[in-house]
Amino acid sequence: MAAIAAIATACARVPTSLEPQLSGAIGMPHRGVLKNGTTLDGAGAGYRFLRDNGRHSALPRFAAAIARAAKSIAETRPGAPLMIGDLSTAHGGGPLLPHFSHRSGVDADLLLLMTTPAGVPIVSPGFLSVGADGLAQDAEHGMRLYRFDVERQWLLVRALLVDPEARVQWIFIQDNLRAMLLQWAVARGEPIAVLQRAAEVMAQPNPGGEHDDHIHVRTACNARETALGCEPFGPRRAWLSEPVSRPDDSDLELARALLTAPDAEHLADVR
Ligand SMILES: [Zn+2]
Repeated sequence: MAAIAAIATACARVPTSLEPQLSGAIGMPHRGVLKNGTTLDGAGAGYRFLRDNGRHSALPRFAAAIARAAKSIAETRPGAPLMIGDLSTAHGGGPLLPHFSHRSGVDADLLLLMTTPAGVPIVSPGFLSVGADGLAQDAEHGMRLYRFDVERQWLLVRALLVDPEARVQWIFIQDNLRAMLLQWAVARGEPIAVLQRAAEVMAQPNPGGEHDDHIHVRTACNARETALGCEPFGPRRAWLSEPVSRPDDSDLELARALLTAPDAEHLADVR
């Protein structure tokens, strides 16, 4: 009996015939699955896949937000496409090595936007570690030198931050790169609200990899997704909070009837 209870608990957040109502990002990023996700179009505007490895599925709204952000950079500052690393597999789950998370359609690895030393945007050849000077050397291609494209990278971060459908909870990124982006955003005169969001969500995880060669974007589930099986995990972002529903009059009356003490007048009548 105890064994049956244990199995039932372990499977509680996985779509089964017992819980057909679960949908979307089910469970947590490191212990979940994806149901009814969307697979990014490999020929989308403004982005390309680094590898054609079947790992480009996510919650539909999150996948759409990534595609929108890439398209917006291509329109605002045309140049090389954003290279997209792993999201989740079509049905999620894991382990999805080398990742710890990426299992429920709420995580996306996006390669850093890079330029030539002269500032011409280039297609990122892969995961290149960017130093504190903003430069990266490509050991596989004759130690070619590249520069971190702060301007277009900020456009990407900003596009995700202001898109209500992206619901960015985290952007994992190395400290120096974070500082470069924030400095650029301040110099650019971005609104305080956007700067605050950026400062809050951009962080170098410890442990979990430096993230000096890509950013990892995590989306936070909304109330509807939570009702359908997404388990909120990690900090709540104030700007993503949804209005708390108030009880309607009948509920209020019920609560009063149950909890309010009889008033003095009424007591007098009783006496
Ligand atoms: Zn990642």
